[in-house]
Amino acid sequence: MSKKIVSYPGREITTEEVRKGKVLESIQKVEPRYNWAAGVAISRFLTELKNGKIIGRKCMQCKRILVPPRMYCEQCYRPTDEWVEVKDTGTINTYSVSHVAADASRLKELLVVAVVDIDGASPGMGILHHLGEVEPDPVKIHIGMKVKAVWKPKEERQGAITDIKYFRPLRGEN
Ligand SMILES: [Zn+2]
Repeated sequence: MSKKIVSYPGREITTEEVRKGKVLESIQKVEPRYNWAAGVAISRFLTELKNGKIIGRKCMQCKRILVPPRMYCEQCYRPTDEWVEVKDTGTINTYSVSHVAADASRLKELLVVAVVDIDGASPGMGILHHLGEVEPDPVKIHIGMKVKAVWKPKEERQGAITDIKYFRPLRGEN
């Protein structure tokens, strides 16, 4: 039994046809509303941010504390074991002074973004965030610099990474 191949001739629509209204069109306003699950680990991480805490997951086999937390250890190929509260202080792992905003416009006030290795988490476990209360000057900022989270007031927290406003330099305090 052979299948008969049916072809449907078609061609591109020209701009002129569109302009002259020879093409049917319908204009719709799309208002998608949807949620997505952050997963077990990140959901709890975000919930604890609302409480002013940073938490991680510990893997008993490699003894690492993963921040942000993960339910699975990618080094040991096994589930992680327990929740651990870590500090809201850390060390600048790397940073960048940004002259350009997310929409590519030039910033009047420069922005400093940094990866902060969180105290109590394993080395290299960090959070990407803004630095504040420091001049955006490489002379004033350095890799290895100690910083601390500045939290939004409790009533303004939403369970988001922005519940931390920014990290500021630690000045001989704990
Ligand atoms: Zn592990």
